[in-house]
Amino acid sequence: MQRILWWLRRDLRVQDNLTLHQALQNAAAVIPVFVLDAQLWRSEKLAPARKQFLLESLVELDAQLRKRGSYLIVREGDAARELVHLARETQADAVYFHADYTPYARKRDTRVMAALDAAGIDYAAFNDIYLADPNQVLKDDGTPYTVFTRYRMRFEQNVAVPARYALNQNLNTPPHISSLDVQNLITARNSNYARGGATVGMQLAHDFISRQNGLAAYGESRNDMAADATSHLSPHLHFGTVSVRELIRLAREAFSESSARRKQVSARTSSENAKVWIDEIVWREFFNHVLYHFPRAAHSAFRAEYANLNWDNDAEFFQAWCEGRTGYPIVDAGMRQLRETGWMHNRARMITASFLTKDLLADWRMGEKFFMQNLIDGDMASNNGGWQWAAGTGTDAQPYFRIFNPMLQGARFDPTGAYVRRHVPELAKVPVEYIHAPWEMPHAVMTRIGFQLGRDYPKPIVVHATQRERALALYKHTDARAGASLKKRSKQMEMSL
Ligand code: FAD
Repeated sequence: MQRILWWLRRDLRVQDNLTLHQALQNAAAVIPVFVLDAQLWRSEKLAPARKQFLLESLVELDAQLRKRGSYLIVREGDAARELVHLARETQADAVYFHADYTPYARKRDTRVMAALDAAGIDYAAFNDIYLADPNQVLKDDGTPYTVFTRYRMRFEQNVAVPARYALNQNLNTPPHISSLDVQNLITARNSNYARGGATVGMQLAHDFISRQNGLAAYGESRNDMAADATSHLSPHLHFGTVSVRELIRLAREAFSESSARRKQVSARTSSENAKVWIDEIVWREFFNHVLYHFPRAAHSAFRAEYANLNWDNDAEFFQAWCEGRTGYPIVDAGMRQLRETGWMHNRARMITASFLTKDLLADWRMGEKFFMQNLIDGDMASNNGGWQWAAGTGTDAQPYFRIFNPMLQGARFDPTGAYVRRHVPELAKVPVEYIHAPWEMPHAVMTRIGFQLGRDYPKPIVVHATQRERALALYKHTDARAGASLKKRSKQMEMSL
């Protein structure tokens, strides 16, 4: 073939890019194009942090392409129309892109393929943004997995990480194809949001893999909310500014026995930590697998029996949760971290999601939408999976009686209160023994630090113990099989999480 349009979507990098690799194998010239999908671009679900990250990533991608005899063509509008138009304009023979598996993306891609068919333009899609195609990891009878542990076992058997797709040739993109100037779309930069682009992404990856409290200590440090020691690679994985395959290779390489010996760390400990981290990446694969095979989960409870729970959906409580003024410090810290930075620690995501659904008895979809509107890494499959997990409506074998106690969670995962103090500065002077329950502070202590509950920081908007019982009753009402041992099991779980 002479020319191939490389339609970029969530693979915004030139290194280890399977679609680009295939295009270069098959064409003399490759034309990279990104279409600002009108519907997504103007969606109320597009978080400002995500938008900024995307635009910065496009700017850098353009710079990277320019080093390889190319440049990024950006068009805005309906993808099907724009691609057919551009293919005709550039006399391209085919359009190559990576497969995307969300319900929205699948519908859009079906329309695009129909339009290309009608125009007589060839096309091909490649699995690039996940390690596994959702049909690659199936049970013996060909049906999808719904239990993570079993999925992971089959995943390990079926999915190999191929060698790096090296880029060692120019794209030979024809000159003077008109494009929007992405730089002009970045109006004001919010420096609280993480930077986009493949360079930052790879720096983060190398830093995480080599630093002491990164991958080598992940099993322990990942839950330390104040240390904030996880990789922060999630927006890069979402937009493909780093390759998921490359991350696995780097993690395995760094913690092979020989490199552990070099660094004088126990190979066993190191590889166990690497495995815990790789498991998290497999969770990402699993949630994609679930959403692909059960697209109804995008809008409704995966467990049909919980599709019509009788939520309270109190508008004022929801607003207080969104704004981080529930009166529960660990919940408020998480929500404020999200609002300020567009990112939230995973432990905080679990705590805040549990609080919304089990303490405020609000429909998980309200929280899911708010997260999408604010997260820099907002991702349909992982976000939906995370929310359904927290609400107990998802694939998880542990049903609804997983109810996080915000005080215990705070004491365990933010023992010094540093995370709370960082994000809820009005609690900065509260002694550590009251930081997760300021309402228990004796009057004399409040006076000494000049703090008044209700004036400086809200009183708790609900009583956790009461709401917990209400949540159990709400779900139990729906699930007749809950049984008498429910309360006891719930209490045990609360202690162990
Ligand atoms: P690390 O701990 O360094 O993990 C490495 C990578 O593994 C992450 O970047 C991510 O891609 C993947 N990963 C880690 N944990 C999970 C998980 N539980 N589920 C799926 N993938 C995981 N993640 C998103 O990427 N987008 C979302 O919209 C999203 N929404 C969530 C909503 C809720 C209610 C919950 C409980 C979790 C959600 N997660 C989401 C998963 C997780 O919180 C983030 O992936 C993680 O906090 C990102 O930080 P990190 O890159 O430092 O992760």
